[in-house]
Amino acid sequence: MIVRKSPDELEAMEEGGRITSACLKMLSENVRVGITTRELDRLAEEFIQDHDGKPEFKGYQGFPASICASPNTMIVHGIPGTYRLRDGDIISLDVGVRYRGFVTDAATTVAVGEVPEDTVDLLDVTRKCLSEAAEQVRAGNRLGDIGHAIQSVAEAQGYGVIRDLVSHGVGRSMHEDPQIPNFGRPGTGPFLLAGMVFAIEPMITLGGYEIEMSSWDGWSIFTADGSLSAHYEHTVAVTENGPRILTNGA
Ligand code: MG
Repeated sequence: MIVRKSPDELEAMEEGGRITSACLKMLSENVRVGITTRELDRLAEEFIQDHDGKPEFKGYQGFPASICASPNTMIVHGIPGTYRLRDGDIISLDVGVRYRGFVTDAATTVAVGEVPEDTVDLLDVTRKCLSEAAEQVRAGNRLGDIGHAIQSVAEAQGYGVIRDLVSHGVGRSMHEDPQIPNFGRPGTGPFLLAGMVFAIEPMITLGGYEIEMSSWDGWSIFTADGSLSAHYEHTVAVTENGPRILTNGA
């Protein structure tokens, strides 16, 4: 069942979303050659707690940190640790904050130092996948329209759309119904109604869409073909007046 949020609940989510997006902005500003992903995690945890939020990822099914930090060919769910960012890396940073009982979830991918042009293109196109998908979050549209938007933008460039990981509903729980594939046919699936809230998160690669689970930490997920992967995410609400991105910053 897709839970719809009341205007008051959306208000609470919007406040929480400001913390989430401000945290990501702070992290992006701290990305530099030589910093470890663990240091970024500490910065995020302090930031979220200082703003009266709770880092939702920490302890989620045993996840040991407050953010996911996933460099290069790692798609998502990287555990922050001793990895030091290097010139030419890209890193997906994913943050979930619980505030006034509701979760907002957002991610960005940041280039470290100088990256090649095809990497810049991948980041641009993945951002465009997210913005075009968010545009579809309108009452009267259907769930398949969201995935279709992502797939159309990515595949027009010859990029891969990760299929085994999905966008999702979000609210009192981080993962609510529905699961939203980041590919699909337009005009299919449930109709979107005001008050629904989705965490839309395209994961796009310079290669194919097959994934490989890490065999050592049980969390991190890589591209099977070793291609670079980018990941952006916003929490987006359906309103009477079109899409409302709750994690767009103040
Ligand atoms: Mg998510």
